[in-house]
Amino acid sequence: MSETTISLSDKIAGLRRAFIEQLPGRMAEARRLFDMLCADPGVGEAADSLHRYLHNTKGTAASFGFLELSALSGKGEAVTKAMMEKSGSLSGESLQQLSECLSGLERMLEQLPLQAGNTLGQREQKVVFELPSTENAEDETSNERLIYICDDETLMAEQLSAQLQCFGYKTALFHTTADLREAVLRKHPDAVIMDIIFPEGNSEGTKVLKDLRGIHGIRFPAIFVSARRDFDARLSAIQAGGEAYFPKPVSALELVASLDLLTRHTQPESFRVLVIDDEPEIAQYHALILENAGMVTRTTAVLETVLDVVGEFKPDLVLMDMYMPRCSGHDMAKLIRQVPDYVGLPIVFLSSETDPKKQFSAMRVGVEDFLTKPIDPVYLVTSVALRAERMRVLRSLMMRDSLTGLFNHTAITQFLDSAIVRARRQNHSVCFAMIDVDRFKSVNDNYGHPVGDQVLLALARVLQQRLRDTDLVGRYGGEEFAVIMHDVMLEKAEQLMQQLREDFSKVLFHAGDVDFFCTFSCGVAAFPQLKCAETLIEAADKAMYQAKHSGRNRVVIHAA
Ligand code: GH3
Ligand code: MG
Ligand code: MG
Repeated sequence: MSETTISLSDKIAGLRRAFIEQLPGRMAEARRLFDMLCADPGVGEAADSLHRYLHNTKGTAASFGFLELSALSGKGEAVTKAMMEKSGSLSGESLQQLSECLSGLERMLEQLPLQAGNTLGQREQKVVFELPSTENAEDETSNERLIYICDDETLMAEQLSAQLQCFGYKTALFHTTADLREAVLRKHPDAVIMDIIFPEGNSEGTKVLKDLRGIHGIRFPAIFVSARRDFDARLSAIQAGGEAYFPKPVSALELVASLDLLTRHTQPESFRVLVIDDEPEIAQYHALILENAGMVTRTTAVLETVLDVVGEFKPDLVLMDMYMPRCSGHDMAKLIRQVPDYVGLPIVFLSSETDPKKQFSAMRVGVEDFLTKPIDPVYLVTSVALRAERMRVLRSLMMRDSLTGLFNHTAITQFLDSAIVRARRQNHSVCFAMIDVDRFKSVNDNYGHPVGDQVLLALARVLQQRLRDTDLVGRYGGEEFAVIMHDVMLEKAEQLMQQLREDFSKVLFHAGDVDFFCTFSCGVAAFPQLKCAETLIEAADKAMYQAKHSGRNRVVIHAA
C-alpha cells in the first residue's frame, strides 16, 4: 500500500471517529424531540428536525460503513415521514415504532466505539486512486522548455533555433547524432527536433531515437524534420516513435504549434468542487474522496454564506445535500441559480433520498444529477469529473477567442475588474498593457488574410509563452491584444513588454516566396496610479497611440 493510500484511510478513519463521537449528543437531541412529540404530536418543527436527524444519520452511517445503524435510522426516518405526511397526527402505533427505533439506536451507539477502531470496511478500501504523478514537479514550476535540435545542416538548424527562442523555447544545437545521444543521456530535454538523414546513414535519425527509447528507456517527444517526403521515411519515423513529421523547408510557426502541444507539461487545472452538507463529517468524507482523485474542494455547512463562498472559491461544480436545516437543497439550488453568473454552474445533489418522486422534484430546479448516498467513490469521482469537464468546455468556449485561444474581450475586461478588486485588497499593483500590430492592414493587403491570421497566432503564442502563468493574455479586438500583469511595478512591466516586442519583431514570417517581419506598438498603465478598469484601459490605449505616433515598434508608459 502506498503512503498516500494509508493517509487517506487514516483520514477517513478520523472522520468515522468524529462521526461517532458526536452521535451521543445528537441521540440525546433526538430523544428530546421525540419526547416533545409525545407530549404534543402536533409540533411540526420537532417532527421536521427529527426526520432530518434520522435521514442524515441513515446517509452518513451508510457512507462510513455502519450499515445496521443506517438501516435502523432509515426505519425511523420512514415512520417520521409517514407521520409528517398525515399532517402531524402521530398514532400510538407509530409512536411505539419510533420509540423502538430510538432505543435500538441508543443500544447500537454503545457498541460503535469498538467498531470504529476496527480495520476499515469494504467501502473505504475501494477508495484508492492514483494521485497525479509528482515526478518532474520541479520542472513544472518553470515555464522554460529545453529543445534539442539535431541536424547536420548547420545553417538551417541555427535559423530554426533562433526562431524557437523568439517563442520562449530554450534550445541546444547538435550536428551529429553522437552528440545528441550524449546530451540526452546527460540531461533530458522537453523535446527533440531531428533530421533523419545524416552523413552516417540515411536513417540515422530514426535509429538514434529507437536506441534512446528502447535501450535507455528515455521518454521525450520527438519531431522529425526531413528532406524526405516518401512514405517509407514517414513510416520509419512513426515506428521509431516520432510524434510529428515535417518535410523541409519547415515553417517555424507550424513547428512551434506542434511543440506547444507536445511539451505542454502543466497539468490541466484541477476541478474545483464545493461540497455543501449540514453534516461536516460527511462533507469532508466526500471532499476527501474527490481530493484523492486530484480535485480541489471546499466544504461548508453554513448555508447563509454559500453565495460568498461560491463567489470566492469559484467552483466548477457544487455537490449538495438535500435535507438541510432552514434551507433545503432544492431551495439552495434555486437561490444559487437566481444569481445570473451562476445560471450555468452545475449542481449535483448527493442525498440518501431514494424516493424517485422526491428526486424528480429536486431535479426540476435544473440540477445536473441526483446521486444517492452511500455512493461508490469511483462513481462519485467519475460523475463529478464528467460534469465539471463539460462545464470547463462550455465556459472556455464562452471566454476564449476562436482564432488564438486567448481570452476574449469580455473575459479579459472582467478579469481586469477582478484583478483591481484583488489588488486593492492586497495592496498590490496591477499593470495593463495594450498591444496593437503595426501596419497590419498592409500584411493583409500584401499577403492575404490567412497570412494575417498567422501573424496574429504567432503574436498570441509569443505572449502566452513568455508571460508568467499568473499573467492573463487576451485578444482585445481584431489585431489588438491585452495583457494583465498581477503584482508587477510599471518599470518591470515595461521591461517585460520590451522583451516581448523584441522577440516578436524577430519572428520570421513566410508568404509564398517572400519573408517578412512584423512589429507591434504597446501602451502600459498601472493600478494604483489609475483607479479603475476603465481609466486603466483608456490610459493604456492612449499610451499605445502615442507609441504609434512616435514611430511604432515601441513601448510607451502612460505618464500619470
Ligand atoms: P497601425 O500600425 O496604425 O495599427 O495600422 P494597422 O494597419 O495595423 O491598423 P488598422 O486598424 O488600419 O488595420 C487593422 C486591420 O486588422 C484591419 C483588419 O482588416 C485587420 N484584422 C482585424 N481582425 C483580423 C483578423 O482576425 N484576421 C486578419 N487577417 N486581419 C484582421
Ligand atoms: Mg494595428
Ligand atoms: Mg488597430
